[in-house]
Amino acid sequence: MLPAHQAEQIILDRVQPLDPQQDRDLVPLAAANGRILAAQVSGQLDIPHWDNSAMDGYAVRYEDVADCSPEQPVTLDIIEEIPAGAVPQKTVQSGQAARILTGSMLPAGADTIVIQEDTQRQGDRVSILAAPKPQAFVRHQGEFYRAGTPLLPAGILLTAPDMAVLATAQCLQVPVYRRPRVAILSTGNELVPPDQPLQPGQIVDSNQYALTALVTSAGAEPIPLGIVPDDPAATKQAIVQAISRADIILSSGGVSVGDYDYVDRILAELGAEIHIRAVAVKPGKPLTFATFPPAPPSPPRPLLYFGLPGNPASALVTFWRFVQPALRKLSGLATGWDPTVIQGRATQELRSDGKRESYLWGRVQIVNGEFEFHLAGGSHSSGNLVNLAQTNALAIVPIGQTRILIGEPLQIMLIHLMQ
Ligand code: AMP
Ligand code: MG
Repeated sequence: MLPAHQAEQIILDRVQPLDPQQDRDLVPLAAANGRILAAQVSGQLDIPHWDNSAMDGYAVRYEDVADCSPEQPVTLDIIEEIPAGAVPQKTVQSGQAARILTGSMLPAGADTIVIQEDTQRQGDRVSILAAPKPQAFVRHQGEFYRAGTPLLPAGILLTAPDMAVLATAQCLQVPVYRRPRVAILSTGNELVPPDQPLQPGQIVDSNQYALTALVTSAGAEPIPLGIVPDDPAATKQAIVQAISRADIILSSGGVSVGDYDYVDRILAELGAEIHIRAVAVKPGKPLTFATFPPAPPSPPRPLLYFGLPGNPASALVTFWRFVQPALRKLSGLATGWDPTVIQGRATQELRSDGKRESYLWGRVQIVNGEFEFHLAGGSHSSGNLVNLAQTNALAIVPIGQTRILIGEPLQIMLIHLMQ
């Protein structure tokens, strides 16, 4: 059976990212947070836009104050006050200073700031008690950024710090990749939506909601296509409908041994190439990965099909391990496709059969500066979903290993940001 890292490579090799020209949206600055930049952004203005002061103090000519000390202060005439936002009106001449506040424009003639703490003011005169360094506390125009040079590269996920940079550069329309479209199908005769009373033998289609949430959190656009009965014709019709609307199709259920034949057959009839049928992971062994070749007028890239196992825990684990990296690459992200794996310690013994890479769900916490993994209570059978609630990480027990003892180092996959 295929090891997880090989399966991931096979999948990533077949993902062709969105096109930076054709799959580009221009969104208003305020809507750009969480999107992926589709083109390099550069600014039209230097940063800082003009020489300004980094401190509250006095703008002076360095040569006037180069030798002063508490014993031999130099006293200067204050010619004006420059509060934030004001434009200096006068030129600082020899023997003069301007009162200046943090961020204010440096007046002509001055080249150095003396911080307030090193001065003593008497009316409209100021004594300088310590010699500053030449050009002290002056932020020079263009010191942080030169107009026209690259400011932000394409392929980055925009977050709060980037928003500050884009706003400063007055980038009002931001070129971002469109959101990948992900169709979601739940297969199974036993499934009903959550708003229906359950008849004997029926269960609620929870995967539709879990996968929709995962797709949304990944910055993609979910297309929930509902429940499809275990019937070849209905399945085929649902997949055809999904093909015309999506970049990725996720189905859950119907890929375990008994169902292989008809899913395979439908995918083949529709022109798909099946690359993966099972992966050595637990939970999640039955995993189908197929691609549909580009067919005009659809996008010029293969459409990806993931047949996830129906078990709710298996569907989640296989999404995090295999679908999310593919979705990240497809979405235009230049780097960082792999799941985030950190090293921590087990707080209780973890077990596996040793035959497959095992993912055990739980919570990671930082205790005394170290990551500690706490296994979720209750059954870790892939049929259980109740103890998935509030988990934030998966502990990984590698193939060939049957136990990890308390306190032993452990690889932990983060499934969302720690809280
Ligand atoms: P399957 O992969 O279709 O053999 O399904 C495996 C198990 O997962 C069965 O117990 C199903 O009832 C359950 N299951 C399948 N699909 C879903 C779903 N959409 N939501 C919740 N459980 C499901
Ligand atoms: Mg089924």
